[in-house]
Amino acid sequence: MLADLSYSELQSFVKKMGLPAFRADQLFDAIYSAKSISEISNLPKGLKSIIEEQYPKYEIFHMLKSKDGTMKFIISYPDKAIVECVLMKYKYGYSICLSTQVGCRMGCKFCASTIGGLARNLTAGEILGQLLLVNRHLGGSKKERKITNIVLMGSGEPLDNYDNVVKFIRLASSAKGLNISERNLSLSTCGLVDKIYKLAQEEFNITLTISLHASTDEERAQIMPIAKRYSIKEIIDACKNYYNKTKRKIYFEYTLIKDVNDSGEDVKRLRDLTKGLLCHFNIIVLNEVAQRPLKKTTRLFAYQFVDLLKKEGVSATVRRTMGEDIEGACGQLRNKILANS
Ligand code: SAH
Repeated sequence: MLADLSYSELQSFVKKMGLPAFRADQLFDAIYSAKSISEISNLPKGLKSIIEEQYPKYEIFHMLKSKDGTMKFIISYPDKAIVECVLMKYKYGYSICLSTQVGCRMGCKFCASTIGGLARNLTAGEILGQLLLVNRHLGGSKKERKITNIVLMGSGEPLDNYDNVVKFIRLASSAKGLNISERNLSLSTCGLVDKIYKLAQEEFNITLTISLHASTDEERAQIMPIAKRYSIKEIIDACKNYYNKTKRKIYFEYTLIKDVNDSGEDVKRLRDLTKGLLCHFNIIVLNEVAQRPLKKTTRLFAYQFVDLLKKEGVSATVRRTMGEDIEGACGQLRNKILANS
């Protein structure tokens, strides 16, 4: 699929097809402006029919708008796979939360994205497609970027789809394309330790965010199956290595779950675990998912938890929740239409 190709790869493709070089620029412009093939006006019909098979066919299938202005887009692919992505408006501009897989196989107990398991990986160009379609929806094009920030926090585990995600980061940040600053891109992972070491070697300037959600391995294993594979200590060591290589502050996500991970002892253990690491905790109030029995704490409690962390010298804030009424908040993304429930 042509959106999987970098500009220079597209140039080689055009050359291999025996076409003049300027066709690569026309195609690149059309792809990055999220035009459908029928909307491209500067390509001859004959040429369109030759490349039609490889031209991107993802589209916005549906859009929901929250009371708070957050928008959830359902993107469909030609094989009928669908994913969700969420657009949030901040003071500094638009941030988009992208999905990296159709479903997820990590099995976290609090998260809706994992309920039907993993259907398939998205390719780099399919991840990019979400960004390009929503950029166009906002009136943007290749030349006019409307979205400045990306978080890889939609459905899927980005590091479980490593090669495609790394390629996507290169495409999204490429100066030829939308030229999104790597510093404005966050990758969130449940902690695939070997891949965190690998990511540190890529020489990206992206922010690494770890979904920690517990202060002991036993606690973590109750809610996150991945805890049986990697210990918290191994994750923290991988974060230290990531920091040493990139000098980027590490972010931890910590979703409070009533009577599971919300005690004063948790606060002290989090302090000890992260000693000496430049990091910040985003404390999240659990978004209850209908199919899951876990209970949330109050927002007031989350602020108190943050105060306790701060008293221990740990940097922390409560994450604002956005788009809850359209099930666009953390952990609520899933394939409702196809799952029919
Ligand atoms: N697989 C990646 C990215 C997707 S989840 C990861 O695990 O980080 C994005 C964030 O939302 C993660 O921190 C995840 O743990 C959190 N999350 C998932 N379900 C949630 C829920 N029901 N309420 C609040 N946060 C949730």
